Amino acid sequence: MDLGVAVVGGGAAGLLAAAAAAARLRDSGRAESVAVLEAAREPGRKILVSGGGHCNVLPAREARARFVSSSPRRLVDRFLDRFPLAAQRALFEALLGGPLREETASAKLFPPSNRARDVRDALVADARRAGAEVRASMPVREISPREGGGFDLRFEGASLSASRVVLATGGRSVLAGGADAAGFDWAAAFGHTVRPLVPALVPLTGSSPAHAALSGISLVAVVTARSGDEFATVRDGFLFTHRGWSGPAVLDVSHVAARALAGGRPFAVTVAFGGSAEEWDAALRSGAGTVGGALRRSLPDRLAALVLAEAGVAPETPFHRLSREARREVVRVVTALPLPVTGTEGYRTAEVTAGGVALEEVDPGSGASRLVPGLFFAGEILDATGPIGGFNFQWAWATGRTAGEGVARALLAAC
Ligand SMILES: Cc1cc2nc3c(=O)[nH]c(=O)nc-3n(C[C@H](O)[C@H](O)[C@H](O)COP(=O)(O)OP(=O)(O)OC[C@H]3O[C@@H](n4cnc5c(N)ncnc54)[C@H](O)[C@@H]3O)c2cc1C
Repeated sequence: MDLGVAVVGGGAAGLLAAAAAAARLRDSGRAESVAVLEAAREPGRKILVSGGGHCNVLPAREARARFVSSSPRRLVDRFLDRFPLAAQRALFEALLGGPLREETASAKLFPPSNRARDVRDALVADARRAGAEVRASMPVREISPREGGGFDLRFEGASLSASRVVLATGGRSVLAGGADAAGFDWAAAFGHTVRPLVPALVPLTGSSPAHAALSGISLVAVVTARSGDEFATVRDGFLFTHRGWSGPAVLDVSHVAARALAGGRPFAVTVAFGGSAEEWDAALRSGAGTVGGALRRSLPDRLAALVLAEAGVAPETPFHRLSREARREVVRVVTALPLPVTGTEGYRTAEVTAGGVALEEVDPGSGASRLVPGLFFAGEILDATGPIGGFNFQWAWATGRTAGEGVARALLAAC
């Protein structure tokens, strides 16, 4: 065999998997080689662009319930339990030479230098220090099992063999040159169930001129998406764009709309501004004033006008002229303004791909395929998606490290 372990994909999960595998093999005095095969010109491209170039490397606190997966929920926990958040934080503080910087309001953690490049460089250096090779511009085009064990990996005009393979090819979003996220197709060809793939953490689109006219308005709001039993609601930043709606609150519920759109199922996305229905009701009664004036005290003028147009109430209506029904309608609209969503911005801007390899078919203790001996999975290729806030890296680090240790243990046990 050319390689002991081929880690296909040098992103967040692959780099950690390679470091863990190489360290474990080295510490056991074994000579099997570990190599990361990365399609793009440099490894960890997505780490470089993450968090707006600052890399929100982890969350400060757990939020397990906010992970989304079509696989049994308890499995998400079992994968994350293998490399707890506190231990991940300790690893990055050691790799980056200091405490992670916490953005208190959002509970996001960033590298001490605030530079994504330092995170990427530290991971590459760590993998190399452990003895792994990191090869860039190596797009794998085909993987097939070898008779008698192991795998053949084909590139354009070249091939390699490896005794074990870790698939860490990530998702379909924001692919760097040479990358194709073909891991999903290989997993399916190997007999794995790949749960439907949709763009997630993605802006929503629609063609309402009334909403587009508000482009640029941004405020904190509660966005709720519903489709059948699927439901997500998030209070965070909300932004009107030329093409629709964005901001963390929209991104965090976007998977519900994306899944419904892909399956041709009905769905609704609404947004609530300001306080509760009771608070708005009180604001529309107290003292003298107009409905428009009351709304404009809490909302930008153009948004107040949109709400009133939607409710069918003239802005200059004084409180004493506002019927009970009209007041109720204003409160209903301001606390559940329907967003006429017709699509998403797709993989071009999605931060992650929801869906992927069914968690039931992968051992959470080692990342090993339960179907194909010698095959391991790590990262976004698996069917789990975290919310905004460092949770997708938490998943990548947890599953990457687990697969790296798992693949090394498998090699050690083999002879
Ligand atoms: C703009 C943006 C910002 C983000 N910001 C954050 C953030 O701040 N915090 C957070 O937690 N998450 C963030 N994410 C999500 C996070 O980047 C991913 O969840 C994470 O990178 C997934 O890790 P991975 O290793 O599974 O996949 P990736 O990091 O995508 O790595 C997969 C690698 O496989 C390579 N590859 C693909 N196909 C092949 C092939 N055929 N042959 C060889 N190599 C191949 C790719 O080039 C890539 O390098 C962001 C995502 C985007 C797009």
